[in-house]
This record gives sequence, structure tokens and C-alpha cells, in this order.
Amino acid sequence: MQIASPVLAEKRPTTPHDLEESEIVERIRSILAAHGSTTVLLAHHYQRREIVDLADFRGDSFELCMAASRQREAERIVFCGVRFMVESASILAREDQSVFHPNERAGCPMADMASCSLVEDAWADLEARGLASTTIPVTYMNSDADLKAFTGRNGGIVCTSSNATRVFDWAFERGERIIFYPDEHLGRNVANWAGIPRDLQFIYDPRLPLGGLSEEDFRRSRVLLWKGYCHVHTHFTADHIEHARSKWPGVYVMAHPECTEEVVAEADFSGSTSQMCRKVAEAPAGAIFAIATEVNMIHRLAYEHPDKQVHTLSRSLCPNMYRINLYNLYDLVRDIENAEPVVLSAQVQHDARLALDRMLAVP
Ligand code: SF4
Repeated sequence: MQIASPVLAEKRPTTPHDLEESEIVERIRSILAAHGSTTVLLAHHYQRREIVDLADFRGDSFELCMAASRQREAERIVFCGVRFMVESASILAREDQSVFHPNERAGCPMADMASCSLVEDAWADLEARGLASTTIPVTYMNSDADLKAFTGRNGGIVCTSSNATRVFDWAFERGERIIFYPDEHLGRNVANWAGIPRDLQFIYDPRLPLGGLSEEDFRRSRVLLWKGYCHVHTHFTADHIEHARSKWPGVYVMAHPECTEEVVAEADFSGSTSQMCRKVAEAPAGAIFAIATEVNMIHRLAYEHPDKQVHTLSRSLCPNMYRINLYNLYDLVRDIENAEPVVLSAQVQHDARLALDRMLAVP
């Protein structure tokens, strides 16, 4: 499988590492306070707790996407998350707004599994069979901007883990089949929830000629699932759940839909990061949770809800989310006037916006 991401040299933070964290936090706070509402800081749930504590908005990728699009007074948006999130905020920002990423090396390996050129090849396979006109491309938010642009140009739409079921409904109102990329597991789980028979769901493996499918498979398919995955979420197994249930009787198990279908089937609940956060917040004191998602969010939930037990189903960390830290955030905000914002070509910006706007319009 081709890896599409450019190899970027990691910029070394210039903030002295002997500065106490509390001192850096105070400096960041005072810089942001001086900026007032002209600079807004967004943080994804998987960020370190000290970063989330500094944020004006925390949320899942959908909520942050909405927050970014609603910042009327902000001239600068600082996005603490991985590259595809920052690009999405930039696509939705006004022309006079700039979006900044504290560490451009924070990418997403799953997004890299579906390069735009590989997806164009798959689309050509569909076109050659006369099937493209009845196929709706659906890209997960976790994809590069040029792939969102391809999707927008071809009548498709973006989804997140919080709205994927409604987006599938939207797509099936407009076409006979969906090609979904880059996450096989989210696509599989949503197709299962949508009641698509298993024998009409096919995996498209970009490493194989024709994705490893026969002519008949293409024609019969209702969902083509790109063979990509998130290593943070495929880490979890049904055995982890069995172990949690014997260790904590009465435990409520939650799994992100990027987990495998076996894990999702065994869990008590599957939903986006924000939906899982709400479940914990609304539970009565004494409730016990075991959660299959990124460890930083789970540790923060445990810290914020000391009257409940919040456990990791098994420790799994996203090293890319972890690349954002106080040092590179401080480096950015203290000299933000001279920092490089995210820049996308006008064409990518326009076409990707089509796919994002379709998602934002889904009720
Ligand atoms: S948790 Fe998975 S999908 Fe999310 S940024 Fe990390 S590798 Fe990508």
C-alpha cells in the first residue's frame, strides 16, 4: 500500500525544556488572554489533558468542525489535533481567517492508507464498468484534503463517527452503492447498523488488481469498504471485553466504531468520542466504564469524574495526537504573527468544501 504523506522534518520546539509545565501553561494562557476572541484554540478529545484544559472548545472532529465554522470574531484558529482535522477547519474557515497547527508532523496513518491517486484508480474501476454514476463516494473525516476534494467533485460527502449512519442514509437516497474510505471498520459497522446484508459488503483492497474483486462483486456490491484501519482502535479484542467483564462486574463497555465489528458487537455501546464522554458524564455516581478508544481521553474522563470508575479496555495511545504538546503549542502562540498557517490550493479548498457542506447540511 502506498503511503501518501509527505515526510516532514520535525521542527524542534525552541521553548527551553527546563521550563516548568505550569510556567508554560501560564505563559500560553496570558498570550491567549491578550489576544481575546481574535484567537481561538480548539482541541480534540484525544489531546493531552493539559492541552484540552487550555482549549476554548474541546470535542470530536464533527463538533470541532462546527466550532471552526462558527468563529465569527476569530482571526486565528489554533487547532490541536491531527493534520486532517486542521485541514478541515481551514476548508471551513473564512478567507480572512488563518488556521494553525502546532506540529505539522501530527498526521494520521489511517488517512495515509487512502491516497487520492489510489482512490482515483478505484473510481476508474467503477467507471470502466459503468457503475460510477450509481455510486456515491463517502469519505471519513479522517482523510486528506485532496481526497475530500475528489469526493466533493464526484457528488460525494464527508462523514464522522457521530453522523455516519445519517450520511449513509443520505448516500443511499442518491445512489445504489457507496464506496467508503479509508476505514474498513467504521464502514463495516455503519453498514451493519444500516442493515446492509453482509454478502453485499465487499472489501476493496487497493494493493490488489481491481481491489481483489470480481466483475460480479462490483455489480452486486452495495458497500465497497476500503481496506484501511486505525491501529489505535484495531488493538482492542473481544478477549479484552471478556476480561473487563470478569474483572469489574457490572461494567458498561463502550467501543469507538473504528474498532472491529467483533468488538463493537460485544460492547454495550458504540459511538463517537463525544457520545462516549456524554455517557460517562450522565451516568450516576458509582458507575463503572471500560472504554475502547485512545487512552488520553479515558484518563481525562477518569480524572474529571472521580465519583465513577473509568477504565481503559486496554491501553492504546495515538502517537500522532501525542505529537502536540505544551512546547510546540507555546512556540506557535508566542510568535503566531510570523507562523505559517495551513494553505490549501483554491481548487482543493472549493471541492473539499462541497463534500463538507453536504455533511453539515445532513439533518
Ligand atoms: S486515533 Fe487512529 S484515526 Fe485517529 S488520528 Fe490516531 S491513528 Fe488516526
